[in-house]
Amino acid sequence: MNTAYPGAASAVAVGVDLGGTGSRFVVLDDSRRVLAHVTVPTPIRTSPADAVSFIEDHVNSVADGATVRSIGIGASGPVDATGVIRNQDTLPAFMGLDLVAGLTKAYSIPVSIDNDAVTAAICEASIGAARDYPSLLMITLGTGVGVSALVHGEPVRGADGVHPEAGHLSVAGGSTPCYCGRASCWEQVASRTALQKAAGRLLSQPSGGPADIQIASDRSVAGDEPARELFNAYGRRIADGLADLLTVYRSAAVVLGGSGASYYRAYGHSLEARLGELKTYASVPPIFISQAGDLGGAIGAALLGLRRASPIAYQE
Ligand SMILES: [Zn+2]
Repeated sequence: MNTAYPGAASAVAVGVDLGGTGSRFVVLDDSRRVLAHVTVPTPIRTSPADAVSFIEDHVNSVADGATVRSIGIGASGPVDATGVIRNQDTLPAFMGLDLVAGLTKAYSIPVSIDNDAVTAAICEASIGAARDYPSLLMITLGTGVGVSALVHGEPVRGADGVHPEAGHLSVAGGSTPCYCGRASCWEQVASRTALQKAAGRLLSQPSGGPADIQIASDRSVAGDEPARELFNAYGRRIADGLADLLTVYRSAAVVLGGSGASYYRAYGHSLEARLGELKTYASVPPIFISQAGDLGGAIGAALLGLRRASPIAYQE
């Protein structure tokens, strides 16, 4: 009997979106409805044992006594083919950690892990904006740029089994040093962070907070020319990397996620016009904004775990 969530007929699936700043935990029922969710700060420095305990504590808290049938994790940055997190830059407390082994030992249930752009794409392909399309290219515009491609629901991977870290595509016009060692990376000009910095410069606010993007966006929509050009340039920068990815993957649909996607109204026309000028692929596929929003990575992680725990329930 599930006393914690009376609406859930049986055990629940928990999804975790492990981000550089905050981590989201969601609980899904058998119908893939979100029963509960919570967002907490991600620990920066802690021991491996405490990093596993951090996940356990919040899984237990959000499940609130319900029986957990599976746990799925979407982690920021690279996750190797054995499920070990390889992200020193944004997840230092989890670097080199085999969370799957630690959580499987603690719970004796199926535990899965993948990159957070992959889990966000799984959400959009399963229950979100791209559910009617056979393939999908997911771009998350956040602190960096996350990329994943799915074909019939399965992630496209490199030869070593890892998803493509395509935020580090080299694009023309970049001059901001990236932690990877180059100064031409797509994510340095197309991330929400880059938009934030540009909006800060426009408003003479060197710190460039999220509020600056909203003010600049409002000005752009109202017709202010410098603000319009800022967003037009941002749209073209997204298009430059997106065109490369469409050339490689030839996806049937594109979904933009992350907080940068919420300003699409201000730059979408520029992005689509730029894509339309380029002739490296047959046609521009439909571009959608994430339907799941901030919870997409965690919901997709729960679906990833559920798929492993109960393929039949996942298919229904
Ligand atoms: Zn880079």
